[in-house]
Amino acid sequence: MSLDLTDRVRPALVGFEPYDPAFTPCEVNLSANENTHELPPVVREAINAALVSTPLNRYPDPLANDLRDVLAARHGVERGSVMVGNGGDEILFNLFFAFGGAGRSLVTCPPDFSEYANFATMCEMPVKCVWRDADTFAIDADALVEATKDAAMAVVTSPNNPTGDLVDHALIRRLLDETNALVLVDEAYVEFAPEGSSVVSWVADNPRLMVLRTLSKAFALAGLRCGYLVADPSIIDKLSAIRQIYSVDVLAQATAIAAVNEREALRPVVDDIKAERERLSLLLGNIPGLRQWPSEANFILVRVPDASRVRQLLRDEFSILVRDFSYAPGLTDCLRITVGTRQENDRLVEALTELMKGEA
Ligand code: PMP
Repeated sequence: MSLDLTDRVRPALVGFEPYDPAFTPCEVNLSANENTHELPPVVREAINAALVSTPLNRYPDPLANDLRDVLAARHGVERGSVMVGNGGDEILFNLFFAFGGAGRSLVTCPPDFSEYANFATMCEMPVKCVWRDADTFAIDADALVEATKDAAMAVVTSPNNPTGDLVDHALIRRLLDETNALVLVDEAYVEFAPEGSSVVSWVADNPRLMVLRTLSKAFALAGLRCGYLVADPSIIDKLSAIRQIYSVDVLAQATAIAAVNEREALRPVVDDIKAERERLSLLLGNIPGLRQWPSEANFILVRVPDASRVRQLLRDEFSILVRDFSYAPGLTDCLRITVGTRQENDRLVEALTELMKGEA
């Protein structure tokens, strides 16, 4: 007989299940918005060299100061404005842990990254949803500003996962000017958007603005678990005080430093993914019965009739994995397709075309 934990578990945590992205090994995995391109040899070699020269018998630098310096230099800020974490996920959790709690709500604009609501709920932070337009996924700017006026924090995602659109800079400006909340701009995918899309340079003049970045996407290091926040030093200090002290281990710190230092070599990879996104979008446009939304990220959201079945057939008959969002509120019959290599994208388009034959 298994132990009944209902009355033992912290009430805010009842009902949570282990995270399950429904991963099945497939030849082509376009399900998790990873970077599926090979790392350029110069980046791979720099990482290998860093790894072999990193001793494992010593604890990591809990503040990861060398890595913070490299990231700070990337963005032209001081070390004190940067904080690293075990993926952006850990930083999100710590932000809600630090600045949430009963009576301090988080405003989100779903459909967006579902972990915002999950982590906030775990941190007993009430979640206020300002739903996007059901057809276009546009944010209702007035409703968001209004809802944020009595909130502790608002999060906007730019580009948004899974809808792919950027947040209007004027809306971020309004959130900062017309409310007193902390404003988190999640830029996990911003490297795939046009130059000038990031608001990281605004942080210096806007102490309530926080920008989340990750090495999981453009840097092709999802397995490393390294993300970071650029924010006012007072926010960074508070987060530093409450974080798991060694959550970014020595290998992650060494790898991240090497990769960020070699970032110029990653530019052609990101450029190729952007070009492939446009090519994939054109090809998807030829498939009858498929609707897609414009994306500035490394994925495209599509709607197809009977999406769950399409996803299953892609997996079982073509060994291609995409992400099924058809169960998620606001995303009926939607699948999210990561932009892969040219070969992967061609294979996906061929399979989808085959499956969609005969759709009106
Ligand atoms: N923000 C968004 C919008 C994401 O999609 C993800 C990952 N899927 C993250 C943050 C967190 O990424 P990571 O923990 O890998 O840095």
